[in-house]
Amino acid sequence: MELYSGHINKLIEELAALPGIGSKSAQRLAFHLINMPEGKVKRLAQSILDAKENVRYCSRCYTLTDKEICPICANHNRNHRVIMVVENVRDLAAYEKTGKYDGVYHVLHGAISPMLGIGPSDIKLKELLQRLQEEVDEVIIATNSSLEGETTAMYISKLIKPMGIRVTRIASGVPVGGDLEYIDEVTLLRALEGRVEL
Ligand code: ZN
Repeated sequence: MELYSGHINKLIEELAALPGIGSKSAQRLAFHLINMPEGKVKRLAQSILDAKENVRYCSRCYTLTDKEICPICANHNRNHRVIMVVENVRDLAAYEKTGKYDGVYHVLHGAISPMLGIGPSDIKLKELLQRLQEEVDEVIIATNSSLEGETTAMYISKLIKPMGIRVTRIASGVPVGGDLEYIDEVTLLRALEGRVEL
């Protein structure tokens, strides 16, 4: 039985397809949106469209940005000879929030997973190697401590070490399979400071 009108059903369906939103939350959001003043709904819809149209990958580190080069890569006060490799933009944001890391980043947009059929060419690895043609002192591998994250870390280290660049891995102690995003800043800093040579 159709509980609601087609338009509401469609809205609930679209919202429920978003990550972390179950069907109950989707219903609650849908009814909230319908009760909002039209102007507010239009602003929300427009900001989604604007973000989609204007946000792109930084041409150096592949984080999301409005410009060709993101503010971190464009910042001359950062140490461009130290590159921290993370799986996704949320991980970058987590480290950035600590305010204690002054190097730059490289976002892989995923991790190697033979089980899911994700290989080295499916993540931004080639792009990382290209950056290493410039002067780089250290690559800090901060992929998750999941099986995929560890596989990726090992793969990258094997590629980079012969280039004579120092490769380190953030200390374990970051919960296994834990999303970096949900780990508190103290734990992240400890993981960064306690990084080990690979
Ligand atoms: Zn960047």
